[in-house]
Amino acid sequence: MNAEIIAVGSELLTPFRTDTNSLYLTEELNQLGVEVIFKSVVGDDFARLVAASQHALFRSDIIVFSGGLGPTEDDLTREAVSEALGAPLHRDEEILAAIERRFAARGWKMSPNNAKQAEVLEGAVVLPNPNGTAPGQWLSGKFDGRERIVILLPGPPHELKALFEEACRERLRAKLPTAFLATRVLKVAMLGESQVDARVAPIYKRFNDVQTTILAGAGEIQLHFKSRAETLQAAQTRVDEAADAVEEELDDAVYSREGQSLEQIVGYWLQMRNATLAVAESCTGGLLGERITSVGGSSRYFAGGAIVYANAVKSELAGVPGEMIERHGAVSREVAAALAEGIRYRCESTLGIGITGVAGPGGGTPNKPVGLVFHALASAGGTEVIERNFPGDRKRIRWFATTLALDMVRRKLM
Ligand code: AMP
Ligand code: MG
Repeated sequence: MNAEIIAVGSELLTPFRTDTNSLYLTEELNQLGVEVIFKSVVGDDFARLVAASQHALFRSDIIVFSGGLGPTEDDLTREAVSEALGAPLHRDEEILAAIERRFAARGWKMSPNNAKQAEVLEGAVVLPNPNGTAPGQWLSGKFDGRERIVILLPGPPHELKALFEEACRERLRAKLPTAFLATRVLKVAMLGESQVDARVAPIYKRFNDVQTTILAGAGEIQLHFKSRAETLQAAQTRVDEAADAVEEELDDAVYSREGQSLEQIVGYWLQMRNATLAVAESCTGGLLGERITSVGGSSRYFAGGAIVYANAVKSELAGVPGEMIERHGAVSREVAAALAEGIRYRCESTLGIGITGVAGPGGGTPNKPVGLVFHALASAGGTEVIERNFPGDRKRIRWFATTLALDMVRRKLM
């Protein structure tokens, strides 16, 4: 069975409100083994809502509406679904009484427009709303000769979630053929999306029953694998087979196989090796330290570091000779190495990282353009420096630089 989600509300078509309900619903439906095949956002407009409902009834088995069940003029989901299904609305006196009681309990008088929320589609099961006035509705039956489930849920996220959990999840499960969904996520650092896809597409295409999605972010590629089967074990086996085959191809570029972040993996390896880390950051301004310390327990392996923006501070806090900065420039291989070595020495850590570069948008020169970053990793065995020219704006360049630095630590300790 497949599903379609229709998020109702004109506010969701503005830059100020995001439709988050459909993300929650998609996750829940996937957990039940139901694939979401369409998602749409429709404003508070009767004709457009009827059209969207008709499309959905034609093409999807389960249709979940979010929002538009409130008391105001612009809440039209009930009316539109009634029109699309040809199911008349009836006022339910019990719901009306419950709404009145809800108001009375707060010492308020119910305004007449609230009665709208007591309108129920013919044949629908009413789903009581523990957190609000508008109840949900569940309708299942044949539409145009095909079996359909139509679910109406209120828009406020805490109401929608409570209603789904309490009144929809098990009711849906009972209607579904047994299907289990297994997922796996592989994460890859510092390789391009097309580069990764060229290498792994021939592999994952062999697995017809595993859906593979590639998500690209700054300095990171995620490969999501998903499979459905009659038992969880069968689904998991297929997903593992596909993920393992892809991992074998990408080898040590895969830094995480169970969804962990790069920061977590770096923390894991530092603890495994009983090592500590210190950082001296110029162009990343503390972002690396922030990423490392976003992991709980990082005090066990992160010594600390310095944000060394001004040249004098590079000398003062990381011991970089002023003469070296003058000769090679603050953005140079030499200064990156000296930062890493200096901070390692001063913090008495196993490893030291130095980052210096041009994050932009100003400050670039033909020799040292915006995006040029030197990353150094100092250890007892010596210092390694990686030079890169990152694309993108200031934010992206800084993110790339910290990702590369973290990946250098991971590779060193692996
Ligand atoms: P409604 O049930 O349409 O009256 O929605 C009530 C409130 O819930 C809206 O003002 C939104 O702030 C919120 N809301 C509605 N739909 C969504 C959605 N799809 N995702 C997140 N919030 C929503
Ligand atoms: Mg609304």
